[in-house]
Amino acid sequence: MKNLLSGVAFIALAAAAPAFAQDAPVLGDFGFDVTGMNAELDPGDDFFQFANQAWLERTEIPSDRSNYGMFTKLAIEAEDHVREIIDEAAAVDAPDGSNTQLVGGLYKSWMDADAINAAGLAPAQPYLDRINAASSWEDVASLFATVHYASPWGVGVIPDPADTSRYTLYMGQGGLGLPDRDYYLEEDEASERYRTAYVAYIERIFDLAGIEGGADKAQAIMALETALAEVHWSQERTREITEIYNVLSLDEVVELAPEFDFRANLEAFGLGGQESFMVATPSAIADAGEIFSQTDLDTLKAYLTFHFLSDRASWLGDDFDQASFDFFSRTLNGVEEQREREKRGVDLIGGALGHAIGQIYVDRHFPPESKTQMEELVAGLQTAFRERLENLSWMDDETRAQALEKLSTFEPRIGYPEVWDTYEGLEIRADDYFGNRMRMAEFAWAEQLEDLAGPVDRREWDWPPQIVNASYNPLLNQITFPAGILQAPFFDPNADMAVNFGGIGAVIGHEIGHGFDDQGRRFDAQGRIRDWWTEETNERFLERSDALVAQYDQYQPLEGHTVNGRFTLGENIGDLGGMEMAYSAWRDYVDAHYGGEAPVIDGFTGDQRFFLGWAQVWRRLYREDNLISRLRTDPHSPSEYRVNGVVRNIDAWYAAFGVDESDDLYLPPEQRVSIW
Ligand SMILES: [Zn+2]
Repeated sequence: MKNLLSGVAFIALAAAAPAFAQDAPVLGDFGFDVTGMNAELDPGDDFFQFANQAWLERTEIPSDRSNYGMFTKLAIEAEDHVREIIDEAAAVDAPDGSNTQLVGGLYKSWMDADAINAAGLAPAQPYLDRINAASSWEDVASLFATVHYASPWGVGVIPDPADTSRYTLYMGQGGLGLPDRDYYLEEDEASERYRTAYVAYIERIFDLAGIEGGADKAQAIMALETALAEVHWSQERTREITEIYNVLSLDEVVELAPEFDFRANLEAFGLGGQESFMVATPSAIADAGEIFSQTDLDTLKAYLTFHFLSDRASWLGDDFDQASFDFFSRTLNGVEEQREREKRGVDLIGGALGHAIGQIYVDRHFPPESKTQMEELVAGLQTAFRERLENLSWMDDETRAQALEKLSTFEPRIGYPEVWDTYEGLEIRADDYFGNRMRMAEFAWAEQLEDLAGPVDRREWDWPPQIVNASYNPLLNQITFPAGILQAPFFDPNADMAVNFGGIGAVIGHEIGHGFDDQGRRFDAQGRIRDWWTEETNERFLERSDALVAQYDQYQPLEGHTVNGRFTLGENIGDLGGMEMAYSAWRDYVDAHYGGEAPVIDGFTGDQRFFLGWAQVWRRLYREDNLISRLRTDPHSPSEYRVNGVVRNIDAWYAAFGVDESDDLYLPPEQRVSIW
């Protein structure tokens, strides 16, 4: 069961005294780290470097990380807090099934590397036997519809975009081992290097499993996945709501790819009664069916075997774990060394049993005042955006009324959920890591099926509160700010408010902005997919957003690797709109608190501090392979463009720093894009 108040055993642990309360800002004198700047630079030439160059030069990416920035810094701090909670749970002899026992038991089972090594492949064997026993394409198709096996298609449970009070089943393409189709199809040097390493990695997994013919199997699997990649939709296409919103009946799904025998297999998957499906990538699933029927049985079985082992490499002992690290972390992301086992365990449990940890985390590390202050900030941003909407020149009144109605339904969620997920029925044993993970996967799928059967519960949080991130859900019009992100440099109750508006204020604006980005705007006040735009206003939106696409398409962080302006459009609109909203809210604040003129602090005007606050949030270094990966798979632009790409479109930034046509970032006023 989900969302019941949690077990009594854990509440006892939560009584430790809170450890907050201080009154100086965490960073610098006013919340901004002046020592990280290079004030010698001209802010108009490169604002990201102006604000951050000294920090970028003196900071090294930790050897066990693919990138390092403010998100990482806070995540590492949160990890220390989570670790204390886990250590306490592991030290207690708690009743089976209590949160304390689940947390402590899972951690102990992961930390017992000797037991995991000794067990080796043995716990996986029954699952491999099922693959080996497959004697027909029908047998393989039925394994595709089983929780633990790889599949060219995937399913998930989401609120129904036609009626968001109930759930529906989402179906989409899947089945690739590399992060995206581009990795199979692009011809640049890096992609070729990745492919060669991937084939070697597949062979290595077969070697470690003592399965013969690994080299041939690796080639065959690579050929199969390349064929799948060719029919996969691109990242930018899978973002297009109008393309992926396809409602199909069960009969239509069966007909789409008869090779997968969906009628029987979905039933076996627990989806027997499901009559309606949202199929995101119909042609990719149909084509995958054909590829499947034309692939020989041995290759399909090798494919299932490889993915079963590779997906669970860290459960099978050090050799598998190291092979997986070498490929996925080192080769694909440039990470130099594996993180310590303890840290990986903390990460795992903080995510997998996140709500059990989160209840204690917020008691200890999230001051109630932060919640109050955030509520005020969010309300300030909503007001600022409403005023902007009311005065937006390119929007006609008919569309404006709908936009205002949508904004009025936004539900902010701050810090932590009002009800916590529980893990009732989950069995965790301190001496059975492999079994724990398999049971957790089954538990998670059973929870999804349970969701599917009932009404949508708007109180659910997908993330635990210790996560350093924020989100917008277009189906429920919820903006969520977990406790993890409500810290410096994003938010500091003791910092100058200009810095807070440029940090968390713009993050709040970013999430609100997602409700009105190129895809979010296709959802209405009830979260339904519905076109509420007049033709004329729609045209004007497209003119503006196309101009933003063209700007970002020009950015090239690495030789031969550019930003994809279309793929990152939603995030770029979120950033730009978020900063415009935050700036308006900041000016409202200045009017209310400083009579229209913010004080100068350490030589910086209020507006300068606002923009510096935004730039500081995006301090970040990437390893080159990680950057390539992000350009292909991450809808966010690299950090330097989240700063430079945004500020050059905002008039107030030009005024704040005296930027003119002699500066590199200068855009003539008619080329500056303003959407929200
Ligand atoms: Zn976003």
